[in-house]
Amino acid sequence: MSGTTRQILILGGGFAGIAVASHLERYLGREEASVSLVGQENFSVFTPMLPEVCSGALDVRHIVTPIRSQLPRTNFVLAEVESIDVSGRTVCITHALTRVSQTLPYDHLVLALGSRTSTFGLPGVAEHTFALKTLDDAGRLRNHLVWLLEAADATSGTEQRHRLLTIAIVGGGFTGVETAGEIVELFRSVLHFYPHIHKSDVRIVLVEAGKTLLLGLPPKMGSYAARRLSARGVDVRTGDGVASADANGMTLQSGARVESATIIWSAGVQPSAVVDATSLPKTKRGAIVVDGDMQVHGFPAHWAVGDCAAIPDGKGGFYPATAQHAIREGPRLAKNIIASLRDQPTQPFHFQSLGMMASLGARKAVAQLPNDFVLTGFPAWFLWRTYYLLRLPGADRKLRVAFDWTLDLIFSRDVAELRVYRRPDR
Ligand SMILES: Cc1cc2nc3c(=O)[nH]c(=O)nc-3n(C[C@H](O)[C@H](O)[C@H](O)COP(=O)(O)OP(=O)(O)OC[C@H]3O[C@@H](n4cnc5c(N)ncnc54)[C@H](O)[C@@H]3O)c2cc1C
Repeated sequence: MSGTTRQILILGGGFAGIAVASHLERYLGREEASVSLVGQENFSVFTPMLPEVCSGALDVRHIVTPIRSQLPRTNFVLAEVESIDVSGRTVCITHALTRVSQTLPYDHLVLALGSRTSTFGLPGVAEHTFALKTLDDAGRLRNHLVWLLEAADATSGTEQRHRLLTIAIVGGGFTGVETAGEIVELFRSVLHFYPHIHKSDVRIVLVEAGKTLLLGLPPKMGSYAARRLSARGVDVRTGDGVASADANGMTLQSGARVESATIIWSAGVQPSAVVDATSLPKTKRGAIVVDGDMQVHGFPAHWAVGDCAAIPDGKGGFYPATAQHAIREGPRLAKNIIASLRDQPTQPFHFQSLGMMASLGARKAVAQLPNDFVLTGFPAWFLWRTYYLLRLPGADRKLRVAFDWTLDLIFSRDVAELRVYRRPDR
């Protein structure tokens, strides 16, 4: 990263960062600039399939794709971004394996650092809940669910068994709804291995502060999701948020108490801490304020994309923080960097959402199609699977996931508890 060639530095190897880099690989001449991408893992994670990893339907390795195989011409740096010096145009990183720090200079900087879980400062929530945001989160949660089954099977006290087998999920958005559906599937598939646990011992509670599930989407989607999940035994509680959490469960704003050994938190996200610490302009939510072309407002040659950016949608709002948008924003941003390197005008990002889908387990899903048409049940589930399988990067990953899904139709889910993840009781 030295010499006179202009340096484009991309921070973050998720949907947005990879989309920017792969477009630059394709359309930027080697002599025009060199491209580096800094990521804290050497793979990208296909997050829409994380709930299925947590329920054991998919193998953890099958939803990750090595960054080096996706970006053969980009200089990949496996490191954690520590800080950004916007005025000096440098980024301080720590290499993941050697822990050696290094300062990287840049001419153009792309911030694609995604988001992290937000617990809104609610008492006890950060300490006593599981997040479902990263691959590590999904693996840890899967192990914990298996451990709960083992512990409950070995417990003679009814009250203790009920507490162990009550899983509370907070947040009725896509992640919460899909996780609830998947956990029902996991228990349905494996309970016969545990002779001391009866179906009625298991309780799954889904708590959403808003009036409906899948808030912000056509109300029919939320009501269908609530009906389906309730029919499968999930206790769906809308209109009641979490006030606090502790080691034995959580207290809701209404004063109601949910005794549970497991609270899964999927109620909010905030941009990365590195973004927080920069002097770049941010919204109340902490996202970087960019112009329509994704250049940071008032900071030429600084660009932001994906979950960490607030990208104006041209109608007075911002594009939603979804993978669907991130993978479309990336190519536009790459074209704009190329345009500015060639002294050509940049263009704003425009995209009409294709709709949203949530899988509910048991071969049912709910999908919003163009013009707010809502598809439910098996056809929506088939669409969900087909669409996400096609979007998964790499033919080998597609085959592996398709194979996992086929096996899942025939066999029970795996209850081997791999003791490689940290558990909250240790
Ligand atoms: C469980 C779950 C299910 C989802 N389902 C869907 C869905 O069905 N459809 C949909 O459209 N969206 C879905 N999303 C949302 C989607 O994952 C995000 O909108 C998308 O990942 C945003 O892309 P991004 O590149 O901005 O961020 P990310 O994909 O999060 O990438 C950010 C990258 O930056 C890296 N990073 C962060 N900090 C540092 C640092 N300090 N140093 C180095 N690297 C760093 C991270 O490791 C990560 O690789 C889901 C999200 C979750 C958690």
